[in-house]
Amino acid sequence: MDFQSTNNNLYKQYDLTHSKHFKLYWSFISDVDITIKCARCSREREGLEVRCPSCSGPFRLTVEGEFSRELRRNFPYVTKWVSLGEWNTPLIFMDGYYMKLDFLNPTGSYKDRGSVTLISRLHQAGLTRISEDSSGNAGASIAAYGAQAGMRVSVFVPTSAKGQKIRQIEAYGAQVTRIEGSRNDVAKAAENSANYFASHVWQPEFRDGIRSLAYEIVRDLGWRKPDTVFLPTSAGTLLLGVYEGFKHLLSSGIIDAMPTLIAVQTEQVSPVHCTLKGIRYTPPEKVTSIADALVSTNPTLLDEMVTALKECGDSVTVSETEIIQAHNELEKKGLLVEYSSATALAAAKKYVKKGVTNVLVLTGNGLKTL
Ligand SMILES: [Zn+2]
Repeated sequence: MDFQSTNNNLYKQYDLTHSKHFKLYWSFISDVDITIKCARCSREREGLEVRCPSCSGPFRLTVEGEFSRELRRNFPYVTKWVSLGEWNTPLIFMDGYYMKLDFLNPTGSYKDRGSVTLISRLHQAGLTRISEDSSGNAGASIAAYGAQAGMRVSVFVPTSAKGQKIRQIEAYGAQVTRIEGSRNDVAKAAENSANYFASHVWQPEFRDGIRSLAYEIVRDLGWRKPDTVFLPTSAGTLLLGVYEGFKHLLSSGIIDAMPTLIAVQTEQVSPVHCTLKGIRYTPPEKVTSIADALVSTNPTLLDEMVTALKECGDSVTVSETEIIQAHNELEKKGLLVEYSSATALAAAKKYVKKGVTNVLVLTGNGLKTL
């Protein structure tokens, strides 16, 4: 427990989802309930604790009860949505693959699915000042939803961060603070700031919001399950969120088996792939991959990702050349996505068995990296 957050103690009083009145209220209008426990030691979360005070582990939100085709009802802890019009992105069929165009969300990435649930929850709890550490899509998304909620958002980034994604974060009015040191030092600074740490990695309501992606894929396939889903994988929010969504559809009898979830990583940043396959992973001194959203060489949620993949998944790595080829191919079909998103197509071309329903999640908008 090297840096226990002051956030934990500060925000214990903000308890909404577990109050008796709240549960009673929801039992009238929704059959879905949630529990939030430490993923490592199963201790129940109190209020808005950021991480488990017993073991420093991440919290995991588990959904119980019947899936509702009215999708918002599957998120019972949100009573007032801070929305920018996210969700319901197109699922198109092209060259043998279903492509989920999730880069068409309001801030240009799938992260809006996590921001809408997390920021709505924090806004309901009365929080007005939040911090986040991300120089990329998550930072922009939290900044936009925080702005919509009228919050003061502080985003911590490494001194090396530059480019359009930083400008996007600033455009939404967030305060950007540059921190000297490692990626971990940036995270510590964000967590130990005076603001509540609205981390896209640590906050269970962020990861949980990604469930909506699994629901939409199954709905748009005519309530059928896909066989294989290709997911660019870095910190684990996409993989674990989608996993929970499919689990919920399975437990509710909407689908009869889990699809195979493929974690796609670059050759440079492949800790999940290597751990799953029992290969020793040595991160590069500096990540230089063109897939600049896939940078987690030592992800906090590694154990959780590997456990999910052992149950119903697999992994594949792609080279820089393969990423560039896939990216160019998408561009020439009219789809301008980030290089990090093109990894899904690069992986599918290497992995696919014919005649199965393959879904590629295209996560980030290419306008951000032009
Ligand atoms: Zn714990």
